[in-house]
Amino acid sequence: MSATVCLADIFTCTRCGYCCQGETTVSLDQEDQARMIAKLGLTRQAIAEKYWRVTGSVVQMKIVDHHCIFYSREGGCAVHEGRPWRCGQWPLHPSILAAEDNFRTIRESCPGIKQDVSWEEFCAIFLLLQEQKERLLC
Ligand code: SF4
Ligand code: SF4
Repeated sequence: MSATVCLADIFTCTRCGYCCQGETTVSLDQEDQARMIAKLGLTRQAIAEKYWRVTGSVVQMKIVDHHCIFYSREGGCAVHEGRPWRCGQWPLHPSILAAEDNFRTIRESCPGIKQDVSWEEFCAIFLLLQEQKERLLC
C-alpha cells in the first residue's frame, strides 16, 4: 500500500492573495455556477450582473482593482465555499506533472509551495494525494 501523505507536505496557503489577482480569472463551469448561486443565495441573473463577466459561453468573475471581485486583503475570498473548483485546486495544477518548468513557474507565483521540495518530490506527493482522494471516493 502507498504511504499516506498530506497536502501540508508540499503546500500551506499563506493567504497572500496572489492567485486572486490579475486581469482575468478562472472560468466557471456549470457546476461552479450552480455552487456559487447556491452559496450566494441570489438569482442567477443578479449574480451574473453583479459578479460575472460573461463572454459568449465563457463565464469568469469580474475584476475590480486588478483582482477578482470576491477578493479583499482583509477577508480573503468572500465566496470561499462557493468558489470555482479551479480555485480550490490551485496550486496543484496537472501541468506541474508534465514539466519541471511549469512547476517552477507556478512555485514562483505561489509562496505557499514549500521551497525546499524538489519537482520530483512534489510530483510524487501530488500523485499520492490524487490516489488517496480517489480511494476516499470509492
Ligand atoms: S498564491 Fe498560493 S499561497 Fe498565495 S493565496 Fe494563492 S494558493 Fe495561497
Ligand atoms: S473566487 Fe475566491 S479564490 Fe477564486 S479568484 Fe476569486 S477570490 Fe480568489
